[in-house]
Amino acid sequence: MVHYLDHAATTPVRRAVVEVMTRLMCDGVGNPSGAHRLARDANRILDEARDQMASALGAAPGEIVFTAGGTESDNLAVFGTLEARGGRAVCTAVEHHAILEPVESSGGQVVPVLPTGQIDLDALAEALTPDVSIVSVMLANNETGIVQPLAQVAELVRSQAPNALLHTDAVQAFSWLDVASIGRVADLVSVSAHKFGGPQGVGALVMRAGANVAPRLRGGGQERGRRSGTQNVAGIAGMAVAATETVRDRPAEILRISALRDRLADGIRESIPGVVESGVPSEWSTDEVARPGRGNQPDRRNKTANVCHVCFEGLESEALLFLLERNDVLASAAASCSSGAQEPSHVLAAMGYDRQLAFGSLRLSLGHTSTAADVDAVLNVLPEAVERLRTAELGAGMSDISAAVAVRGSVGG
Ligand code: PLP
Repeated sequence: MVHYLDHAATTPVRRAVVEVMTRLMCDGVGNPSGAHRLARDANRILDEARDQMASALGAAPGEIVFTAGGTESDNLAVFGTLEARGGRAVCTAVEHHAILEPVESSGGQVVPVLPTGQIDLDALAEALTPDVSIVSVMLANNETGIVQPLAQVAELVRSQAPNALLHTDAVQAFSWLDVASIGRVADLVSVSAHKFGGPQGVGALVMRAGANVAPRLRGGGQERGRRSGTQNVAGIAGMAVAATETVRDRPAEILRISALRDRLADGIRESIPGVVESGVPSEWSTDEVARPGRGNQPDRRNKTANVCHVCFEGLESEALLFLLERNDVLASAAASCSSGAQEPSHVLAAMGYDRQLAFGSLRLSLGHTSTAADVDAVLNVLPEAVERLRTAELGAGMSDISAAVAVRGSVGG
């Protein structure tokens, strides 16, 4: 039995989603831009999905722009705003690359985070000059699950850069936070269906009325000219079903999953020495955060319910992932390290983690199909795997593992 603990990378498609998409594709979906009956049906399906997404995201239906996923929504937000308004972009140092690259490549500014992983609001205040046209601050981080203080960010933006749009990447947050209410302070909100039980390659960007963003894809003028290209009707219908189920189940799932996650994280800390769990009280310095033992009392209130993110002293997580996989536990390093060109996670680097410690990072992320058996499986195999990698006892076995890891390549998430 495989124990999947990589829901932050992608989470299994929900049964109701498979059913609706299968039915639509078997029946035949028209092109919503056409003029005949099948086209009108496709349009009705899109309208219904738009209503459902609007309700799930606390937006008006006309504010929903369907895209091909989180990366496209993020790129549209940054590049589209810069094209429409000029000026420059500002984001945090822990954003997904789908935000960081557009911001950096356009000469924008990257604001540091505190050792807790939350944005340094003083540094943001300094960065907010009148020429800033877009500020992008994610709701929850994809590696650590750490949640940003979006309301405080919004207040600063309104007072110091009143002409700027506020964008939030809610791709990781949607399953675990009430984005409809928390995201209201943002002009632009990105989500991606495959993170909440919808299909891969489908997403949405909330574009509030008045948030004039130039299109990135031009052509047939679909999505009221904001995103050309024939819509993925079945995928969008599937996303809407997934979003509706996610919102319906969210309160109970937060309780269920955070209990599993806490048992997992507490179990790891109790059974393995030299572990640092990300997410700690803000008064701690970087030094304290990165010191094993001290970091063993994490404050998880600022994290999404589903992520257990830990760093192990004295090992590299690629080898650990290999050993876990051999025991049918699938997880992620949450670090952008690919064999050969080893770079520790930019998120952990921004949080002040020591380079070696960052190489030992492990992200165990839970989701709607997770069970107690998944937690038990990790707790059964992880202590021994860590021990093996830390001790020289491994001997010749180590070279097998290194070779296998080298062949396997990247393990990002
Ligand atoms: N933003 C965040 C925070 C993510 O975690 C991801 C995916 O991992 C993306 C954006 C990109 O989304 P997609 O895979 O739908 O392009």
